Amino acid sequence: MAESGEEALWCTREEHTAERLKDDCTPTETSVEQKKVETAVGSIYATVRDHLSDFPLVLQRELHSHYLRKGLQHLSESYECLDASRPWLCYWIVHSLTLLDEPIPESVASSVCQFLARCQGPNGGFAGGPSQQPHLAPTYAAVNALCTIGTEEAYNVINRETLLQFLYALKQPDGSFNMHVGGEVDVRSAYCAASVASLTNIITPKLFDGTAEWIARCQFWEGGIGGVPGMEAHGGYTFCGLAALVILKRVHLLDMKSLLRWVAFRQMRFEGGFQGRCNKLVDGCYSFWQAGLMPLIHRTLHAEGDPALSLTNWMFDQKALQEYILLCCQCPSGGLLDKPGKSRDFYHTCYCLSGLSIAQHFGSGEILHETIVGVPENTLKPTHPVYNIVPDKVACAVLHFMQKEIPEMKE
Ligand SMILES: [Zn+2]
Repeated sequence: MAESGEEALWCTREEHTAERLKDDCTPTETSVEQKKVETAVGSIYATVRDHLSDFPLVLQRELHSHYLRKGLQHLSESYECLDASRPWLCYWIVHSLTLLDEPIPESVASSVCQFLARCQGPNGGFAGGPSQQPHLAPTYAAVNALCTIGTEEAYNVINRETLLQFLYALKQPDGSFNMHVGGEVDVRSAYCAASVASLTNIITPKLFDGTAEWIARCQFWEGGIGGVPGMEAHGGYTFCGLAALVILKRVHLLDMKSLLRWVAFRQMRFEGGFQGRCNKLVDGCYSFWQAGLMPLIHRTLHAEGDPALSLTNWMFDQKALQEYILLCCQCPSGGLLDKPGKSRDFYHTCYCLSGLSIAQHFGSGEILHETIVGVPENTLKPTHPVYNIVPDKVACAVLHFMQKEIPEMKE
């Protein structure tokens, strides 16, 4: 059954050559780059189409797990790579392994917890490494990694009292947040703050005063959300803005239809993956930042009672995205990447797998077997589209922290 389905898919893809970029004989730097990518992707699709019956599409789980486990091992031995992003490495690796349903050995999980504890600042929040300045991005990564590990030891690392103080120290009068004390403001910080505060149950009545209104001001005329008011729409910022508004229960402040239109057009018609911005190249990491918006938009429109919504599919081509990830983003020696010709890294491994998971599941994680591209073993665990943590780990963390009092804070 899968085979005939795949054949039908490839016939469609062949017709899709009409979907390649037309530059009207006026090449620009952008169109030349776009055509190079289409040629690389097109030759992969053509080769595979001819051999599809011999080689069904396979997610190389073993190779990816091996690459990730080696990374985790290296982390627990030295924690010295990528100096200021080590909590991110912890999160990208543990989340990827969890999506692959690969257990993390207790001793390794415990050493990750101990390392992250050393990244926590005396005045709250987590830094990129021990003795560095706390910052909202590694704070988000550390809390996500700890909730994904999900043990008592992991939860106990998080000092909720000082975390709340840290968030208050970053809060600006207009509702936005600095990324770190004295640092820049953009919509990422609002999401990181809302994400960690909601997971750990430290939201006070005033913590997010004005934040939702500030985020809504970042929706650009294109429909997507920019980093700050007036900035071009971008996939990463759009995800952060919408996910934060879902947490704050204020999505109605956005023009949802124009947001949907913007993100739907970011799926590349020929490649099947997503671009981050208008006129940019496809990139595997936007498989999550852009496709991850779709469950959030779907849920919002569903709550508004939109009668035209599908009950079986998100509003993007889920199969085309899976094909792009499986065919163009897998490194032959394990790990995933941006596009053909690029190197693997843990960031792209995490967000390609997260996007693949979004494209495979619908609703609260149901799997429709006809939605899975390739062999059934390609199926990953579902991911929570607000936090990008597997849903049962979100539920456990929320339950754990719900039993604790919200810390007192002089406001
Ligand atoms: Zn990327």
